[in-house]
Amino acid sequence: MKKYNFNAGPCVLPKAATESAIEAIRDFDNSGIGILEISHRSPGWERIMKETAALWHELLHIPENYKVLFLGGGASAEFFMVPANLMNKKAAYLQTGVWAKKAIKEAKFYGEVEVVASSEDKNYSYVPQDYAIPADADYFHITTNNTIYGTEIHKDIDSPVPVVADMSSDIMSRPVDVSKYGLIYGGAQKNVGPAGVAFVIIREDLLGKVDRKLQSMVDYRLHIENGSMFNTPPVFSIFVMHETLKWLKSLGGVEAIHQINKEKAAALYAEIDRNKLFVGTAAKEDRSIMNVCFVMSEAYKDKEADFLEYAKGRGMVGIKGHRSVGGFRASIYNACPREAVDALIACMKDFEKLNS
Ligand SMILES: *Cc1c(COP(=O)(O)O)cnc(C)c1O
Repeated sequence: MKKYNFNAGPCVLPKAATESAIEAIRDFDNSGIGILEISHRSPGWERIMKETAALWHELLHIPENYKVLFLGGGASAEFFMVPANLMNKKAAYLQTGVWAKKAIKEAKFYGEVEVVASSEDKNYSYVPQDYAIPADADYFHITTNNTIYGTEIHKDIDSPVPVVADMSSDIMSRPVDVSKYGLIYGGAQKNVGPAGVAFVIIREDLLGKVDRKLQSMVDYRLHIENGSMFNTPPVFSIFVMHETLKWLKSLGGVEAIHQINKEKAAALYAEIDRNKLFVGTAAKEDRSIMNVCFVMSEAYKDKEADFLEYAKGRGMVGIKGHRSVGGFRASIYNACPREAVDALIACMKDFEKLNS
């Protein structure tokens, strides 16, 4: 049976990327040696590192005064890397979900954290709008897409202090004006590759301003100086990221995929709103175009397990919602084809017919 992969991360990758990864494991760059066995100091590899950074600059229109890093440790390591490198006294955070909360916890090791607003009161089903960013903060941290709850900050924020954004789950899904951010980071495994590598986009002049001493691996400046090769980089993960970005470029880049993403999300939300069995959980104005969360409507609450079973029988994979929200979550990242969304919609329609 054909499978439709809606996993939240790691998740579906473009077929073109996995195919070339398979080939590269056999033979990388016609070297006669596989990608898992080459030296990260070989010329072929240095070219991939350079090209991957160049693809980031090209696809996101990243200005010259920003550097792109590829590091281990996932987005979670950036939760402490960011305050270690940027916070002298105080930082401001917007608490829009559990990932934001985890970032706040790590920042508290380095100084004062002001949580400017939180949507925890309604289980993070919306993005707070009314808050003031303190002008004496070293930076303001946001999570642009809240993977678990299906909410998203769709616009670049105006801020008196540099904005730091965890874009793990919506990076490259929509255009962003990078110049409005001080730092953007995330794990690759949702939209730009497999697990094992995190990306960090930094405005270089923000570094070197903290008083504390930093361990080598914690210091972004050292990673910049060494082109993300201060230690052995996650070679294979970066290679698959390179292939994923090449695929995105061939489609027409971020602007083109944004159109496709908006159409996929609109179609799925329209079905959730139409179908009497389901309701969406996120505030409409904050609905994510990457993670679509919904539950059974009140009258059909007892059908949740039935629908999961039915959907599984139709090839749907990974649509069970996160335990803190319940119900269902369809993660429809860049590499999730329109065909998968249409198959899920058809499945919801047929389940409604069976139950009325
Ligand atoms: C998945 C996710 C993370 C955690 O990423 P890791 O690479 O597993 O550390 C952090 N923030 C957001 C928004 C995420 O979706």
